[in-house]
Amino acid sequence: MRIASETVGPFQENAYLVADDAARRAVLIDPGDEPARLLDMIARAGAELDAIWLTHAHLDHVGAINAVRRVHPVPVYLHPLDRPLYDRAAEVAAMYGLPFDQPDPPDRELADGDTLSVGALRFRVMHVPGHAPGHVLFHGHGVALGGDLLFRGSVGRTDLPFSDGNAMEASLARVSTLPEETQVYPGHGPPTTIGAELAENPFLNGTAMPVRR
Ligand SMILES: [Zn+2]
Ligand SMILES: [Zn+2]
Repeated sequence: MRIASETVGPFQENAYLVADDAARRAVLIDPGDEPARLLDMIARAGAELDAIWLTHAHLDHVGAINAVRRVHPVPVYLHPLDRPLYDRAAEVAAMYGLPFDQPDPPDRELADGDTLSVGALRFRVMHVPGHAPGHVLFHGHGVALGGDLLFRGSVGRTDLPFSDGNAMEASLARVSTLPEETQVYPGHGPPTTIGAELAENPFLNGTAMPVRR
């Protein structure tokens, strides 16, 4: 397995390419912005793109979908509870005064417990709502592609429209049960591990105030 990433756009969002090198197949996770750089990343991997998987549908995670799909016409996977965010991404971008390419509707619905494949790799979908109602995490091969659930030393915001602090607490408790050596690749900032966050993240080790409700 190979994981490549590019940090894109004004929100410094991490888009990831997960590839099975032997099978030369790949998926793109959260193509948020700067499609030319994402297309380069795909070309450098020398793999065929199979799909776009979304952890959630905030505008900083979906802005490059259409441009990537003009070159690689692959299906987009999204949890249905994030459709309200997905469908209004251009509207929200306009509020920020940002140019935005509203993506076409997603093709496949993700659900908790789904198994997704890329080449011989298998990832389990965990529904981890809170930051966004349809937020998911992709877990497999000792790796969690976690979107905006968990960052190094912090967690995703729960003060946004459609956020839910109580759901976030439950999702953080759930992700805490993953093996400590699990490598977490977040939507923003550097990678970390579950063990490091259990030790040092104030939102996981009990030293933070409860997540805002
Ligand atoms: Zn987000
Ligand atoms: Zn984000």
